[in-house]
Amino acid sequence: MFLRIFLFASFFLSLYSAPKKIIASAYESKTYKRPTIVLDAGHGGLDRGAKIKYPYVEEKKLTLSLTLLAKKELEKLGYKVILTRSKDYFIPLKKRVDYANSLDAEMFISIHFNSCPNNEAHGIEIYYHNSQENKQKAKSSKNLAQSTLSQICKKSNAKSRGVKNGRFVVIKDTKMPAILIEAGFLTNPQERDNIRKQIYLEKISYGIAQGIENFIKKFV
Ligand SMILES: [Zn+2]
Repeated sequence: MFLRIFLFASFFLSLYSAPKKIIASAYESKTYKRPTIVLDAGHGGLDRGAKIKYPYVEEKKLTLSLTLLAKKELEKLGYKVILTRSKDYFIPLKKRVDYANSLDAEMFISIHFNSCPNNEAHGIEIYYHNSQENKQKAKSSKNLAQSTLSQICKKSNAKSRGVKNGRFVVIKDTKMPAILIEAGFLTNPQERDNIRKQIYLEKISYGIAQGIENFIKKFV
């Protein structure tokens, strides 16, 4: 008798919990399987980054705009995104690294814009650190850089300047796969005009999100 009551009760309990289970599994497939990503908007506060006098542009503002757009795109795909800065703050490089390393994040993406005395230079380049001490990180970072570069160039029609080895603190001292995107030259008049338009930054942000998504599908 007790067994019957028990079975009866558990049958109703299982019915009651079914919708919750369905919601949980949908949530899981959308968010839990996607890793946490740290997006790092380059410069900020007193550190303005590259500056152009006319028309006046500051790298620190554009890096934040692009970072916020990339966050939105990645969240649409179900990623959890953490920012090193969400406003116009100065944050020392070491603090950015320590913050990223303290999180359970699986990727670090630093966003910058380029400048060059030769104003004809244009296009996108992405840096990773070819670490000899951590070859696994170096390999993953290089794959992530290649995947992201190809998608950014595809979506924005910008020229690819390739994946390069760099020793920037934020990609060298972070523990997880890390890249630094130079998303175009502010010193090139044509590219600067593009970068100042929201629609162009949206294309780049879409490329960043799609590049990360392709990397995850292929290598993780
Ligand atoms: Zn920069």
